[in-house]
Amino acid sequence: SEQLPKGRIYVAGHRGMVGAAVVRHLQQLGINDDDLITRDRSELNLIRQADVESFFDAERPDVVVFAAAKVGGIHANNTYPAEFIYDNLMMAANAIHAAYRFGTARFLFLGSTCIYPRMAPQPMPEDCLLTGPLESTNEAYALAKISGLKLCEHYRTQYGVKFHSAMPTNLYGPGDNYHPENSHVMPAMIRRFHEAVRDGLDEVVVWGTGTPRREFLHVDDLARGLIHLVNLDQPPNLVNVGTGTDISIRELAELIAETTGFDGKISQDTSKPDGTPVKRTNIDLIKSTGWQPRIDLETGVRKTYEDFLRASQSGAL
Ligand code: GDP
Repeated sequence: SEQLPKGRIYVAGHRGMVGAAVVRHLQQLGINDDDLITRDRSELNLIRQADVESFFDAERPDVVVFAAAKVGGIHANNTYPAEFIYDNLMMAANAIHAAYRFGTARFLFLGSTCIYPRMAPQPMPEDCLLTGPLESTNEAYALAKISGLKLCEHYRTQYGVKFHSAMPTNLYGPGDNYHPENSHVMPAMIRRFHEAVRDGLDEVVVWGTGTPRREFLHVDDLARGLIHLVNLDQPPNLVNVGTGTDISIRELAELIAETTGFDGKISQDTSKPDGTPVKRTNIDLIKSTGWQPRIDLETGVRKTYEDFLRASQSGAL
């Protein structure tokens, strides 16, 4: 079942963690250079409608995997809500409409499990979407992503195009953003624990109470899941991509301490927000289509730490 999608494929956001993993996977499957379309931000600004339309008119991709987004962790989402809603809304609307206008057969939009209600049943099934208030720390991002997946759904219903969406859970892996404040918890902790070991510190502070629970999917598993979805004849409108298992932030800190060789004290800064108390996805739907994750958390964290070391030694961070 692991095969290249038919036709020319545009991977939007190929410099990001997800887009880069999709490109790596397509290359492993042996894609021809001619069949793979990418543009970095200086070549195509997805917020500019006219530019997006001329790009689709010129390239006419058959398949789009839309991994372009403005993303960030709890602090970035909380601090820059205007950018999170505007950039993500404009990119989604421009690309989905242009894809429809210029004959893209297949569009896979990427949402996120943070679009589900804050108090969603756990594990979260796809149909809990829009059944309750959102988590306030990422409401702006979530509203833009909900609009994107609803655009796909309504264009599919009204025009019969195969536009559909995947909801990845919290992701990690090579190519992540290791910014100390604006990143997600996994890369932030990898960096902080690594630097504590390097600098001989005996204490590391992590944010919040440590009790929130999160699920983590390795981005290579996601990439394989996305191509699997693109190859389905009748893809679900909306499907979770996750592992179905979660751990507490405290347990994650302990795992990263072990991986990086930190054996000092781990303390909590409870002035920082916890965000959603629990976030775990129900993955029955994607499993029923024949996909499941392969990379367990211990292996994934170890590989990610190796990648972090390579990137920091080469000066890429
Ligand atoms: P979220 O899943 O949208 O809440 O995004 P994050 O990945 O940013 O945060 C997940 C959880 O990890 C939250 O409860 C944070 O408070 C907690 N956390 C602990 N230490 C850190 C850190 O250094 N950076 C971030 N981003 N989160 C942290």
